Amino acid sequence: MPSDLVIVYHRQPYQEVEENGETRLIENKSPNGIVPTLKGFFGRVDHGAWIAWKLAEDPANPGFERQIEVSDAYGDYTVSRLPLTARQVHEFYHVTSKEAFWPILHSFKEQYNYDPVDWPNFREVNWAFAEAAAAEAGQGAVVWVHDYNLWLVPGYLRQMRPDLRIAFFHHTPFPSADMFNVLPWRREIVESLLACDAVGFHIPRYAANFVSVARSLTDVDVVRRAPVEDALISEGTALTERSVPTMLEANGRQVRVSVAPVGVDVDFVHEKAHSAATEAKRRSVRAELGDDAKLILSVGRTDYTKGGVQQLESFERLLEENPGLRGRVRLMHVSVSANRGMAAYADIQNEIEQTAGRINGRFGSFEWQPVALISNAIPFDELIGYYRAADVAWITPLADGMNLVAKEFVCARTDGDGVLVLSEFAGAAVEMRSAVITNPYSNRSMDSAIMTALSMEPEERRVRMADLREITRRLDIAAWGNLHQQLFDEIGAERARVLKSA
Ligand code: UDP
Repeated sequence: MPSDLVIVYHRQPYQEVEENGETRLIENKSPNGIVPTLKGFFGRVDHGAWIAWKLAEDPANPGFERQIEVSDAYGDYTVSRLPLTARQVHEFYHVTSKEAFWPILHSFKEQYNYDPVDWPNFREVNWAFAEAAAAEAGQGAVVWVHDYNLWLVPGYLRQMRPDLRIAFFHHTPFPSADMFNVLPWRREIVESLLACDAVGFHIPRYAANFVSVARSLTDVDVVRRAPVEDALISEGTALTERSVPTMLEANGRQVRVSVAPVGVDVDFVHEKAHSAATEAKRRSVRAELGDDAKLILSVGRTDYTKGGVQQLESFERLLEENPGLRGRVRLMHVSVSANRGMAAYADIQNEIEQTAGRINGRFGSFEWQPVALISNAIPFDELIGYYRAADVAWITPLADGMNLVAKEFVCARTDGDGVLVLSEFAGAAVEMRSAVITNPYSNRSMDSAIMTALSMEPEERRVRMADLREITRRLDIAAWGNLHQQLFDEIGAERARVLKSA
Protein backbone atom coordinates (compact mmCIF):
# COMPACT_ATOMS: atom_id res chain seq x y z
CA MET A 1 0.00 0.00 0.00
CA PRO A 2 1.49 3.41 -0.94
CA SER A 3 2.45 5.48 2.08
CA ASP A 4 2.09 9.23 2.68
CA LEU A 5 5.02 9.23 5.07
CA VAL A 6 8.11 7.03 4.85
CA ILE A 7 10.59 7.10 7.71
CA VAL A 8 14.07 5.89 6.85
CA TYR A 9 15.89 5.10 10.07
CA HIS A 10 18.48 2.38 10.22
CA ARG A 11 17.02 0.70 13.33
CA GLN A 12 13.73 -1.22 13.30
CA PRO A 13 10.87 0.45 15.18
CA TYR A 14 10.47 -2.44 17.62
CA GLN A 15 12.41 -5.30 19.11
CA GLU A 16 12.02 -8.81 17.82
CA VAL A 17 11.90 -11.56 20.43
CA GLU A 18 11.79 -15.30 19.82
CA GLU A 19 9.18 -17.15 21.86
CA ASN A 20 8.37 -20.84 21.36
CA GLY A 21 9.88 -20.69 17.89
CA GLU A 22 7.81 -17.66 16.94
CA THR A 23 8.95 -14.09 16.43
CA ARG A 24 7.07 -11.47 18.40
CA LEU A 25 7.40 -7.72 18.00
CA ILE A 26 7.59 -5.75 21.22
CA GLU A 27 8.09 -2.09 21.99
CA ASN A 28 11.68 -0.90 22.28
CA LYS A 29 13.26 -1.01 25.71
CA SER A 30 13.84 2.73 25.77
CA PRO A 31 10.33 4.20 25.62
CA ASN A 32 11.79 7.65 26.08
CA GLY A 33 13.87 7.52 22.89
CA ILE A 34 13.23 8.98 19.48
CA VAL A 35 11.55 5.88 18.02
CA PRO A 36 8.15 6.35 19.72
CA THR A 37 8.07 9.99 18.60
CA LEU A 38 8.75 9.01 15.00
CA LYS A 39 6.10 6.31 15.17
CA GLY A 40 3.73 8.94 16.55
CA PHE A 41 3.77 10.53 13.08
CA PHE A 42 2.00 7.48 11.67
CA GLY A 43 -1.10 8.53 13.58
CA ARG A 44 -1.21 11.72 11.48
CA VAL A 45 -1.32 10.04 8.03
CA ASP A 46 -3.51 7.42 6.33
CA HIS A 47 -0.68 4.97 5.98
CA GLY A 48 3.01 5.09 6.84
CA ALA A 49 6.12 3.04 6.22
CA TRP A 50 9.39 2.54 8.05
CA ILE A 51 12.58 1.37 6.32
CA ALA A 52 15.28 -0.36 8.38
CA TRP A 53 17.87 -3.07 7.89
CA LYS A 54 17.77 -6.63 9.14
CA LEU A 55 20.60 -9.11 9.18
CA ALA A 56 20.49 -11.84 6.53
CA GLU A 57 23.07 -14.42 5.51
CA ASP A 58 21.86 -14.30 1.93
CA PRO A 59 19.98 -11.11 1.05
CA ALA A 60 18.49 -12.82 -2.03
CA ASN A 61 16.85 -15.40 0.29
CA PRO A 62 16.75 -13.61 3.61
CA GLY A 63 14.58 -16.16 5.40
CA PHE A 64 12.15 -13.46 6.57
CA GLU A 65 9.42 -11.42 5.00
CA ARG A 66 10.77 -8.20 3.60
CA GLN A 67 7.61 -6.25 4.29
CA ILE A 68 5.35 -6.68 7.24
CA GLU A 69 2.23 -4.76 8.19
CA VAL A 70 2.06 -3.51 11.75
CA SER A 71 -1.03 -2.24 13.52
CA ASP A 72 -0.37 -0.85 16.94
CA ALA A 73 -1.24 2.08 19.15
CA TYR A 74 0.62 4.36 16.74
CA GLY A 75 -1.39 3.44 13.63
CA ASP A 76 -1.10 1.13 10.63
CA TYR A 77 2.25 1.02 8.92
CA THR A 78 4.47 -1.10 6.77
CA VAL A 79 7.92 -2.03 8.01
CA SER A 80 10.21 -2.74 5.09
CA ARG A 81 13.24 -4.71 6.25
CA LEU A 82 16.25 -4.41 4.01
CA PRO A 83 18.25 -7.62 4.15
CA LEU A 84 21.94 -6.81 4.69
CA THR A 85 24.81 -9.21 5.32
CA ALA A 86 26.92 -8.92 8.46
CA ARG A 87 29.77 -7.67 6.28
CA GLN A 88 27.61 -4.96 4.69
CA VAL A 89 26.45 -3.79 8.12
CA HIS A 90 29.96 -3.85 9.52
CA GLU A 91 31.34 -1.84 6.61
CA PHE A 92 28.60 0.74 6.34
CA TYR A 93 27.83 1.17 10.01
CA HIS A 94 30.84 0.25 12.14
CA VAL A 95 33.57 1.27 9.73
CA THR A 96 32.42 4.09 7.43
CA SER A 97 29.95 5.67 9.81
CA LYS A 98 31.70 5.14 13.14
CA GLU A 99 35.39 5.29 12.19
CA ALA A 100 35.28 7.92 9.45
CA PHE A 101 32.13 10.05 9.86
CA TRP A 102 31.61 10.05 13.63
CA PRO A 103 35.02 11.55 14.53
CA ILE A 104 34.67 14.25 11.90
CA LEU A 105 31.11 15.12 12.92
CA HIS A 106 32.39 15.62 16.48
CA SER A 107 35.58 17.43 15.38
CA PHE A 108 38.05 14.73 16.41
CA LYS A 109 40.38 14.68 13.40
CA GLU A 110 42.90 12.51 15.20
CA GLN A 111 40.37 9.69 15.55
CA TYR A 112 39.44 9.77 11.88
CA ASN A 113 40.28 6.58 10.02
CA TYR A 114 40.11 6.67 6.25
CA ASP A 115 41.97 3.53 5.22
CA PRO A 116 39.40 0.84 5.98
CA VAL A 117 36.44 2.62 4.35
CA ASP A 118 34.71 0.64 1.61
CA TRP A 119 32.95 3.49 -0.20
CA PRO A 120 31.28 1.35 -2.91
CA ASN A 121 29.63 -0.63 -0.09
CA PHE A 122 28.40 2.58 1.56
CA ARG A 123 26.89 3.66 -1.75
CA GLU A 124 25.29 0.25 -2.33
CA VAL A 125 23.68 0.16 1.10
CA ASN A 126 22.39 3.72 0.77
CA TRP A 127 21.08 2.93 -2.72
CA ALA A 128 19.22 -0.07 -1.33
CA PHE A 129 17.64 2.10 1.40
CA ALA A 130 16.60 4.64 -1.26
CA GLU A 131 15.07 1.90 -3.44
CA ALA A 132 13.13 0.52 -0.51
CA ALA A 133 11.83 4.00 0.36
CA ALA A 134 10.88 4.69 -3.28
CA ALA A 135 8.93 1.42 -3.36
CA GLU A 136 6.82 2.42 -0.34
CA ALA A 137 6.22 6.11 -1.05
CA GLY A 138 2.97 7.24 -2.65
CA GLN A 139 2.87 10.14 -5.14
CA GLY A 140 4.24 13.31 -3.48
CA ALA A 141 4.80 11.52 -0.15
CA VAL A 142 7.16 12.81 2.54
CA VAL A 143 10.28 10.69 2.98
CA TRP A 144 12.07 11.52 6.21
CA VAL A 145 15.65 10.25 6.33
CA HIS A 146 17.59 10.10 9.60
CA ASP A 147 21.25 10.49 10.32
CA TYR A 148 24.63 10.44 8.68
CA ASN A 149 24.81 6.73 7.92
CA LEU A 150 22.11 7.42 5.28
CA TRP A 151 23.66 10.59 3.85
CA LEU A 152 23.47 9.41 0.23
CA VAL A 153 19.82 8.35 0.35
CA PRO A 154 18.29 11.77 -0.56
CA GLY A 155 20.37 12.12 -3.75
CA TYR A 156 19.50 8.63 -4.97
CA LEU A 157 15.87 9.05 -4.04
CA ARG A 158 15.61 12.32 -5.94
CA GLN A 159 16.86 10.53 -9.09
CA MET A 160 14.36 7.71 -8.61
CA ARG A 161 11.36 9.79 -7.55
CA PRO A 162 11.47 13.52 -8.35
CA ASP A 163 7.90 13.87 -7.02
CA LEU A 164 8.80 13.15 -3.39
CA ARG A 165 9.20 15.62 -0.56
CA ILE A 166 12.47 14.66 1.07
CA ALA A 167 13.53 15.76 4.55
CA PHE A 168 16.68 14.81 6.41
CA PHE A 169 17.45 15.18 10.12
CA HIS A 170 20.91 15.06 11.70
CA HIS A 171 20.96 13.69 15.25
CA THR A 172 24.64 14.66 15.67
CA PRO A 173 26.60 17.88 15.47
CA PHE A 174 27.53 19.15 12.02
CA PRO A 175 31.09 20.54 11.89
CA SER A 176 32.61 23.53 10.14
CA ALA A 177 34.06 23.32 6.62
CA ASP A 178 37.64 23.06 7.96
CA MET A 179 36.65 19.85 9.66
CA PHE A 180 34.00 18.40 7.32
CA ASN A 181 36.16 18.81 4.24
CA VAL A 182 38.59 16.25 5.65
CA LEU A 183 36.12 13.72 4.22
CA PRO A 184 37.14 12.87 0.64
CA TRP A 185 33.49 12.11 -0.21
CA ARG A 186 32.41 15.58 0.93
CA ARG A 187 31.02 16.78 -2.39
CA GLU A 188 28.97 13.62 -2.98
CA ILE A 189 27.50 13.87 0.52
CA VAL A 190 26.65 17.55 0.24
CA GLU A 191 25.15 17.17 -3.25
CA SER A 192 22.91 14.44 -1.84
CA LEU A 193 21.80 16.63 1.07
CA LEU A 194 21.07 19.47 -1.34
CA ALA A 195 18.63 17.17 -3.15
CA CYS A 196 16.39 17.41 -0.05
CA ASP A 197 13.51 19.81 0.39
CA ALA A 198 14.59 20.31 3.99
CA VAL A 199 17.79 19.52 5.88
CA GLY A 200 17.43 19.59 9.65
CA PHE A 201 19.67 20.07 12.67
CA HIS A 202 19.35 20.36 16.45
CA ILE A 203 20.73 23.88 16.82
CA PRO A 204 21.53 26.94 14.66
CA ARG A 205 25.32 26.40 14.79
CA TYR A 206 25.08 23.02 13.06
CA ALA A 207 22.78 24.51 10.41
CA ALA A 208 25.19 27.40 9.86
CA ASN A 209 28.11 24.97 9.59
CA PHE A 210 26.25 22.91 7.00
CA VAL A 211 25.60 25.99 4.90
CA SER A 212 29.25 27.06 5.06
CA VAL A 213 30.32 23.53 4.04
CA ALA A 214 27.86 23.57 1.12
CA ARG A 215 29.10 27.00 0.00
CA SER A 216 32.71 25.81 0.12
CA LEU A 217 31.94 22.95 -2.25
CA THR A 218 29.29 24.11 -4.67
CA ASP A 219 27.27 27.13 -5.82
CA VAL A 220 24.71 27.78 -3.14
CA ASP A 221 22.85 31.00 -2.47
CA VAL A 222 21.42 31.83 0.91
CA VAL A 223 18.02 33.26 0.02
CA ARG A 224 16.71 33.67 3.55
CA ARG A 225 18.19 34.17 7.00
CA ALA A 226 16.40 34.58 10.29
CA PRO A 227 17.40 35.77 13.74
CA VAL A 228 17.77 32.93 16.21
CA GLU A 229 14.92 32.82 18.71
CA ASP A 230 15.82 33.92 22.25
CA ALA A 231 15.22 30.45 23.64
CA LEU A 232 18.27 29.20 21.72
CA ILE A 233 20.68 31.95 22.70
CA SER A 234 22.91 31.47 25.69
CA GLU A 235 25.06 34.59 25.80
CA GLY A 236 28.74 34.03 25.27
CA THR A 237 28.66 30.24 25.14
CA ALA A 238 30.58 28.31 22.50
CA LEU A 239 27.72 27.03 20.32
CA THR A 240 25.47 30.09 20.29
CA GLU A 241 24.62 31.76 16.96
CA ARG A 242 22.63 34.94 16.55
CA SER A 243 21.21 34.37 13.09
CA VAL A 244 20.82 31.35 10.85
CA PRO A 245 20.31 30.67 7.14
CA THR A 246 16.86 29.13 6.64
CA MET A 247 16.54 28.82 2.85
CA LEU A 248 19.10 27.99 0.17
CA GLU A 249 18.99 27.85 -3.57
CA ALA A 250 21.11 25.16 -5.16
CA ASN A 251 20.93 23.48 -8.57
CA GLY A 252 17.80 25.53 -9.36
CA ARG A 253 15.95 24.15 -6.32
CA GLN A 254 15.08 25.61 -2.96
CA VAL A 255 16.28 23.80 0.12
CA ARG A 256 15.01 24.65 3.58
CA VAL A 257 17.48 24.53 6.46
CA SER A 258 15.60 23.78 9.65
CA VAL A 259 16.46 23.88 13.32
CA ALA A 260 14.58 21.76 15.85
CA PRO A 261 16.28 20.77 19.10
CA VAL A 262 15.15 17.32 20.13
CA GLY A 263 13.61 17.17 23.59
CA VAL A 264 12.27 14.62 26.03
CA ASP A 265 8.79 13.26 26.67
CA VAL A 266 8.19 15.41 29.72
CA ASP A 267 4.92 13.79 30.81
CA PHE A 268 6.45 10.35 30.54
CA VAL A 269 9.41 11.36 32.72
CA HIS A 270 7.07 13.01 35.25
CA GLU A 271 5.01 9.88 35.52
CA LYS A 272 8.14 7.82 36.14
CA ALA A 273 9.48 10.41 38.57
CA HIS A 274 6.39 10.07 40.75
CA SER A 275 6.20 6.29 40.79
CA ALA A 276 6.56 4.40 44.05
CA ALA A 277 9.48 2.43 42.63
CA THR A 278 11.39 5.64 41.83
CA GLU A 279 10.80 7.00 45.32
CA ALA A 280 11.99 3.73 46.85
CA LYS A 281 15.12 3.89 44.72
CA ARG A 282 15.78 7.51 45.65
CA ARG A 283 15.43 6.73 49.34
CA SER A 284 17.73 3.74 49.23
CA VAL A 285 20.40 5.71 47.34
CA ARG A 286 20.25 8.53 49.88
CA ALA A 287 20.31 6.12 52.80
CA GLU A 288 23.36 4.37 51.40
CA LEU A 289 25.09 7.71 50.91
CA GLY A 290 24.62 8.93 54.47
CA ASP A 291 23.32 12.24 55.80
CA ASP A 292 25.87 14.84 54.90
CA ALA A 293 27.38 13.30 51.77
CA LYS A 294 26.73 14.55 48.26
CA LEU A 295 26.12 12.54 45.11
CA ILE A 296 27.43 13.71 41.75
CA LEU A 297 25.92 11.82 38.84
CA SER A 298 27.48 11.50 35.40
CA VAL A 299 25.75 9.46 32.68
CA GLY A 300 26.87 8.80 29.12
CA ARG A 301 28.23 6.30 26.62
CA THR A 302 31.88 5.29 26.61
CA ASP A 303 33.01 7.44 23.72
CA TYR A 304 35.93 9.83 23.29
CA THR A 305 33.36 12.56 22.54
CA LYS A 306 31.85 12.29 26.02
CA GLY A 307 34.91 13.55 27.90
CA GLY A 308 34.81 10.86 30.61
CA VAL A 309 38.54 10.93 31.34
CA GLN A 310 38.69 14.73 31.57
CA GLN A 311 35.81 14.63 34.03
CA LEU A 312 37.38 11.97 36.23
CA GLU A 313 40.62 13.94 36.28
CA SER A 314 38.72 17.00 37.42
CA PHE A 315 37.17 14.92 40.22
CA GLU A 316 40.63 13.74 41.19
CA ARG A 317 41.84 17.35 41.48
CA LEU A 318 38.73 18.21 43.49
CA LEU A 319 39.59 15.57 46.10
CA GLU A 320 43.28 16.43 45.99
CA GLU A 321 42.75 20.12 46.62
CA ASN A 322 39.82 19.82 49.07
CA PRO A 323 40.66 17.25 51.74
CA GLY A 324 37.42 18.23 53.48
CA LEU A 325 35.43 16.69 50.66
CA ARG A 326 37.03 13.27 50.99
CA GLY A 327 34.47 10.85 52.29
CA ARG A 328 31.76 13.45 51.72
CA VAL A 329 31.28 13.47 47.97
CA ARG A 330 30.75 10.52 45.72
CA LEU A 331 30.80 10.37 41.92
CA MET A 332 28.58 7.85 40.19
CA HIS A 333 30.15 7.69 36.75
CA VAL A 334 27.94 5.73 34.36
CA SER A 335 29.86 5.13 31.15
CA VAL A 336 27.99 2.59 29.08
CA SER A 337 30.12 0.50 26.76
CA ALA A 338 28.53 0.57 23.35
CA ASN A 339 30.54 -0.32 20.25
CA ARG A 340 32.45 -3.14 21.94
CA GLY A 341 35.16 -4.51 19.70
CA MET A 342 36.27 -1.16 18.26
CA ALA A 343 39.83 -0.18 19.13
CA ALA A 344 39.12 3.51 19.77
CA TYR A 345 36.41 2.57 22.28
CA ALA A 346 38.54 -0.07 24.01
CA ASP A 347 41.25 2.58 24.55
CA ILE A 348 38.85 5.05 26.12
CA GLN A 349 37.29 2.33 28.28
CA ASN A 350 40.76 1.39 29.59
CA GLU A 351 41.61 5.00 30.34
CA ILE A 352 38.37 5.52 32.22
CA GLU A 353 38.88 2.34 34.24
CA GLN A 354 42.46 3.27 35.06
CA THR A 355 41.61 6.79 36.12
CA ALA A 356 38.65 5.70 38.27
CA GLY A 357 40.80 2.94 39.80
CA ARG A 358 43.57 5.40 40.61
CA ILE A 359 41.14 7.82 42.30
CA ASN A 360 39.64 5.04 44.39
CA GLY A 361 43.12 3.83 45.28
CA ARG A 362 44.31 7.29 46.28
CA PHE A 363 41.29 8.52 48.21
CA GLY A 364 39.18 5.46 49.00
CA SER A 365 38.96 3.30 52.09
CA PHE A 366 37.31 0.00 52.95
CA GLU A 367 34.14 1.91 53.84
CA TRP A 368 34.24 4.56 51.13
CA GLN A 369 34.91 4.51 47.39
CA PRO A 370 34.80 7.99 45.85
CA VAL A 371 33.99 6.76 42.33
CA ALA A 372 31.35 4.20 41.45
CA LEU A 373 32.14 3.32 37.86
CA ILE A 374 29.31 1.59 36.03
CA SER A 375 29.78 0.20 32.52
CA ASN A 376 26.43 -1.53 32.03
CA ALA A 377 23.37 0.44 30.97
CA ILE A 378 21.02 1.26 33.82
CA PRO A 379 17.36 0.67 32.91
CA PHE A 380 15.62 4.01 32.42
CA ASP A 381 13.15 3.37 35.26
CA GLU A 382 16.06 3.00 37.65
CA LEU A 383 18.04 5.88 36.20
CA ILE A 384 15.19 8.22 37.15
CA GLY A 385 15.71 7.22 40.78
CA TYR A 386 19.37 8.27 40.55
CA TYR A 387 18.41 11.52 38.81
CA ARG A 388 16.19 12.31 41.78
CA ALA A 389 18.73 11.27 44.38
CA ALA A 390 21.66 13.23 42.94
CA ASP A 391 22.80 16.61 44.22
CA VAL A 392 24.57 17.42 40.97
CA ALA A 393 24.35 16.09 37.41
CA TRP A 394 27.78 16.54 35.85
CA ILE A 395 27.44 16.33 32.07
CA THR A 396 30.61 17.45 30.34
CA PRO A 397 30.97 16.07 26.79
CA LEU A 398 33.72 17.45 24.56
CA ALA A 399 31.15 17.41 21.73
CA ASP A 400 27.54 16.23 21.73
CA GLY A 401 24.71 16.76 19.24
CA MET A 402 22.19 17.54 21.98
CA ASN A 403 22.48 15.45 25.21
CA LEU A 404 19.21 14.09 26.47
CA VAL A 405 20.54 13.03 29.86
CA ALA A 406 20.83 16.69 30.87
CA LYS A 407 17.19 17.27 29.89
CA GLU A 408 15.94 14.08 31.55
CA PHE A 409 17.68 15.04 34.80
CA VAL A 410 15.96 18.41 34.84
CA CYS A 411 12.59 16.89 33.96
CA ALA A 412 12.89 14.31 36.71
CA ARG A 413 13.50 17.02 39.33
CA THR A 414 9.87 17.81 40.05
CA ASP A 415 11.12 18.66 43.57
CA GLY A 416 12.78 21.75 42.03
CA ASP A 417 16.19 20.99 43.54
CA GLY A 418 19.49 19.72 42.10
CA VAL A 419 22.20 21.41 40.05
CA LEU A 420 23.08 20.76 36.42
CA VAL A 421 26.68 21.31 35.33
CA LEU A 422 26.73 21.22 31.55
CA SER A 423 29.44 21.45 28.92
CA GLU A 424 29.10 24.37 26.55
CA PHE A 425 29.89 21.89 23.75
CA ALA A 426 26.64 19.96 24.20
CA GLY A 427 23.91 21.18 21.84
CA ALA A 428 21.60 21.40 24.87
CA ALA A 429 23.75 24.22 26.30
CA VAL A 430 22.26 26.84 23.97
CA GLU A 431 18.87 26.43 25.63
CA MET A 432 19.90 25.32 29.16
CA ARG A 433 21.51 28.61 30.05
CA SER A 434 20.65 28.34 33.73
CA ALA A 435 22.93 25.34 34.08
CA VAL A 436 26.41 25.92 35.45
CA ILE A 437 28.08 26.06 32.05
CA THR A 438 31.60 24.71 31.79
CA ASN A 439 34.35 24.23 29.22
CA PRO A 440 35.71 20.67 29.44
CA TYR A 441 38.88 21.71 27.57
CA SER A 442 39.84 23.92 30.52
CA ASN A 443 40.86 22.37 33.85
CA ARG A 444 40.19 25.62 35.63
CA SER A 445 36.67 25.91 34.20
CA MET A 446 35.87 22.26 34.98
CA ASP A 447 37.17 22.51 38.56
CA SER A 448 35.45 25.76 39.40
CA ALA A 449 32.13 24.61 37.90
CA ILE A 450 31.91 21.49 40.04
CA MET A 451 32.92 23.48 43.13
CA THR A 452 30.25 26.09 42.33
CA ALA A 453 27.66 23.34 41.97
CA LEU A 454 28.58 21.60 45.23
CA SER A 455 28.49 24.81 47.23
CA MET A 456 25.43 26.42 45.64
CA GLU A 457 22.85 27.79 48.08
CA PRO A 458 19.36 26.23 47.98
CA GLU A 459 17.73 29.46 46.82
CA GLU A 460 19.98 29.74 43.74
CA ARG A 461 19.53 26.04 43.00
CA ARG A 462 15.77 26.49 42.95
CA VAL A 463 15.80 29.56 40.71
CA ARG A 464 18.09 27.90 38.18
CA MET A 465 16.20 24.60 38.22
CA ALA A 466 12.84 26.37 37.71
CA ASP A 467 14.23 28.07 34.62
CA LEU A 468 15.73 24.86 33.28
CA ARG A 469 12.49 22.99 33.82
CA GLU A 470 10.51 25.66 32.04
CA ILE A 471 12.68 25.59 28.90
CA THR A 472 12.86 21.79 28.85
CA ARG A 473 9.09 21.66 28.99
CA ARG A 474 8.77 24.26 26.22
CA LEU A 475 11.25 22.52 23.91
CA ASP A 476 10.05 19.00 24.60
CA ILE A 477 9.69 16.11 22.19
CA ALA A 478 6.18 17.19 21.20
CA ALA A 479 7.54 20.61 20.19
CA TRP A 480 10.18 18.85 18.06
CA GLY A 481 7.46 16.78 16.41
CA ASN A 482 5.25 19.82 15.81
CA LEU A 483 8.09 21.77 14.21
CA HIS A 484 8.60 18.90 11.79
CA GLN A 485 4.90 18.57 11.01
CA GLN A 486 4.88 22.29 10.20
CA LEU A 487 7.92 21.80 7.98
CA PHE A 488 6.28 18.94 6.07
CA ASP A 489 3.14 21.03 5.59
CA GLU A 490 5.23 23.94 4.31
CA ILE A 491 7.14 21.86 1.79
CA GLY A 492 3.84 20.26 0.72
CA ALA A 493 2.27 23.67 0.11
CA GLU A 494 5.38 24.80 -1.76
CA ARG A 495 5.28 21.67 -3.94
CA ALA A 496 1.58 22.26 -4.73
CA ARG A 497 2.34 25.87 -5.67
CA VAL A 498 5.17 24.84 -8.01
CA LEU A 499 3.03 22.13 -9.66
CA LYS A 500 0.18 24.58 -10.18
CA SER A 501 2.37 27.20 -11.79
CA ALA A 502 4.09 24.63 -14.06
N1 UDP B 1 20.54 5.83 29.16
C1 UDP B 1 19.95 4.81 29.88
N2 UDP B 1 20.71 4.11 30.77
C2 UDP B 1 22.04 4.39 30.98
C3 UDP B 1 22.63 5.43 30.25
C4 UDP B 1 21.85 6.15 29.35
O1 UDP B 1 18.75 4.55 29.73
O2 UDP B 1 22.67 3.70 31.78
C5 UDP B 1 19.72 6.61 28.20
C6 UDP B 1 19.44 8.00 28.71
O3 UDP B 1 18.32 7.99 29.54
C7 UDP B 1 19.26 8.79 27.42
C8 UDP B 1 20.10 8.05 26.40
O4 UDP B 1 20.44 6.79 26.99
O5 UDP B 1 17.90 8.77 27.01
C9 UDP B 1 21.38 8.79 26.04
O6 UDP B 1 21.04 9.89 25.24
P1 UDP B 1 22.01 11.14 25.08
O7 UDP B 1 21.37 12.08 24.12
O8 UDP B 1 22.34 11.75 26.41
O9 UDP B 1 23.37 10.55 24.52
P2 UDP B 1 23.72 9.68 23.23
O10 UDP B 1 24.06 8.32 23.76
O11 UDP B 1 22.52 9.67 22.32
O12 UDP B 1 24.91 10.34 22.64
